Amino acid sequence: MHVLVSGGAGYIGSHTVLALIRAGHSVVVVDDFSNSKAAVVGRLEALAGQQIPVQAFDLTDRDKTDRLFDTEHVDAVIHFAGFKAVGESVAKPLTYYTNNLDTTFSLLRAMERHGTPKLVFSSSATVYGPRSVLPYREDGEEPIEAVNPYGRSKVMLEHVLTDVAAAAPALKVALLRYFNPVGAHPSGMIGEDPGGIPNNLVPYIAQVAVGRREKLSVFGGDYDTPDGTCLRDYIHVEDLAEGHVAALEYLTTATEPARAFNLGTGHGTSVLEMVHAFERAAGRPIPYEIVDRRPGDLPVSYADVSRAAAELGWRATRSVDDMCVDAWRWQSQNPEGYPDA
Ligand code: UDP
Repeated sequence: MHVLVSGGAGYIGSHTVLALIRAGHSVVVVDDFSNSKAAVVGRLEALAGQQIPVQAFDLTDRDKTDRLFDTEHVDAVIHFAGFKAVGESVAKPLTYYTNNLDTTFSLLRAMERHGTPKLVFSSSATVYGPRSVLPYREDGEEPIEAVNPYGRSKVMLEHVLTDVAAAAPALKVALLRYFNPVGAHPSGMIGEDPGGIPNNLVPYIAQVAVGRREKLSVFGGDYDTPDGTCLRDYIHVEDLAEGHVAALEYLTTATEPARAFNLGTGHGTSVLEMVHAFERAAGRPIPYEIVDRRPGDLPVSYADVSRAAAELGWRATRSVDDMCVDAWRWQSQNPEGYPDA
């Protein structure tokens, strides 16, 4: 398939571009580089051993989006592009809603006009709210909900895509609910490169390990969990990337107009367990301090992964230690992330 990868220069997008090429698909990347660096493209081309076509524009521009579909025969879209920082979404809700919804509307209109039959959408485990029952199931009793504008944009888009697919007999949609993606490509050439102070746990630990930050703040040590810190379902980004390829192939024979899939491992790992796994990987101590809880954090989050196993034929295979070894290779080879030029 020829796959349009929106946000293909970003963290999950870049790993998925390589997984698609490995599986024999071709890609065109659309990215406005608002949260990614141009240097990723050369790295991807070196790893793929081929040129990767990239169109640098903002997908909220409907005319440009439509023109791209006029010039390329797109069999499927994988839509990663979107803003994703929870804290920033609380401060700038309108920016988040506008960008995350408008990019999707723009793609949907172009897909409708050109009869593009498949869409894989980046959703998030954040659609499981405080009332959802563990392990989180795609068909749980509780309706999906979220507690911040970022998460609500994902909930809204799941509804939008479900309604649009229901009304378009030719369109099939996979809604992929990512748990906590970490790690990097085993080459260490591509990985996660957050701008500013990392919001997420593993990029923060990696920056402490490489000497860019003094110590980790562990948000809360008094949760009702085995070691008092929160549990999350961390998934290796390479497993996640392969999950997208599986979802794309599933859409060829999908019967439901839109279907949600959890992409996780099904296991919870605590913040301190992750710190210790990273210490093993890096061979050095990670200084940390237990501080107050972070508002909005759920104590425990992990997936029921049976639907993805049964219907996508996909399961995560990489361990937490694999995730830390690969994250450390990327961070130690690229202490400051991608170069600017
Ligand atoms: N966390 C932490 N210190 C940090 C960043 C995160 O203790 O600097 C904790 C956070 O409270 C949560 C876990 O690590 O329990 C995962 O946080 P992250 O933001 O990576 O993912 P999410 O909360 O979205 O699942």
